[in-house]
Amino acid sequence: MKKVIVIGGGFAGLSASVDLAENNFEVTLIEASPKLGGRAYSVEDPEFGSFDNGQHILMGCYDETISFLEKIGSYSKLDIQDSLSIPFVRPGGAIYKLTAKKIYIR
Ligand SMILES: Cc1cc2nc3c(=O)[nH]c(=O)nc-3n(C[C@H](O)[C@H](O)[C@H](O)COP(=O)(O)OP(=O)(O)OC[C@H]3O[C@@H](n4cnc5c(N)ncnc54)[C@H](O)[C@@H]3O)c2cc1C
Repeated sequence: MKKVIVIGGGFAGLSASVDLAENNFEVTLIEASPKLGGRAYSVEDPEFGSFDNGQHILMGCYDETISFLEKIGSYSKLDIQDSLSIPFVRPGGAIYKLTAKKIYIR
């Protein structure tokens, strides 16, 4: 079995590691921080509950991300909305919205 080292346990490193392991590589994943997920993680607050840092928006074109989530059994845990309207607040208070009228689920 060939050995490979993947550096970084964010979405990219985790997804590469899963693909490599599926293709009979012996994978060693090296992550600098004490957690996996990289920029995509959540924090627990005793008063307000769980906060996701990122990522919140997955598009249908995210083939590799969706494939990775399916492989690790997490895709079914996503909360997929029928329509989308996310308010963003600019510095100064102006609010604008990211909207999509219909979300197609593959
Ligand atoms: C607040 C926020 C909201 C977001 N919202 C969205 C969204 O809605 N939709 C979307 O598509 N994207 C979103 N993103 C972006 C998305 O989260 C990132 O594009 C994605 O997580 C990047 O994954 P990655 O594996 O490429 O990199 P990262 O997640 O940055 O992972 C890199 C990993 O490598 C590790 N590392 C770095 N250097 C070393 C080293 N020398 N040795 C060992 N380990 C190392 C780091 O610790 C890290 O864990 C958001 C990001 C943030 C911060």
